[in-house]
Amino acid sequence: MSEPDCLFCKIVNCDIPSEKVYEDASVYAFRDINPKAKVHALVVPREHYRDVDELARADAQLLAHIVEVAQRVADQEYDGSYRLVFNTGASAGQTVFHVHAHVLTGEPLDE
Ligand code: C5P
Repeated sequence: MSEPDCLFCKIVNCDIPSEKVYEDASVYAFRDINPKAKVHALVVPREHYRDVDELARADAQLLAHIVEVAQRVADQEYDGSYRLVFNTGASAGQTVFHVHAHVLTGEPLDE
């Protein structure tokens, strides 16, 4: 289900433009508009879940698929190495409450 006021639901539905890096029946991946690494993609499920905890409880297989897609993006864009981040909750820096995996890759990353 889409949430009418959700930014990432609008991106998934192509109501807001984005630069796609991968898509399939259950997920959509696009470039972050404010990249924190040479390659910074966001992998989001098409279905709306507010954060990774809600997704893990509802559909662990879909969460595993998001990790597979992160690997695929890192293989496609770099050497298969990547950092995967799920900001969860406002105090941890989550600003968009549609679960998204930050995939940081494309260059050697500092610790
Ligand atoms: O984890 P957090 O919720 O802070 O991440 C949201 C991310 O969505 C940010 O990295 C921001 O740059 C990105 N964003 C985007 N396109 C938008 C709005 C936000 O890539 N239209």
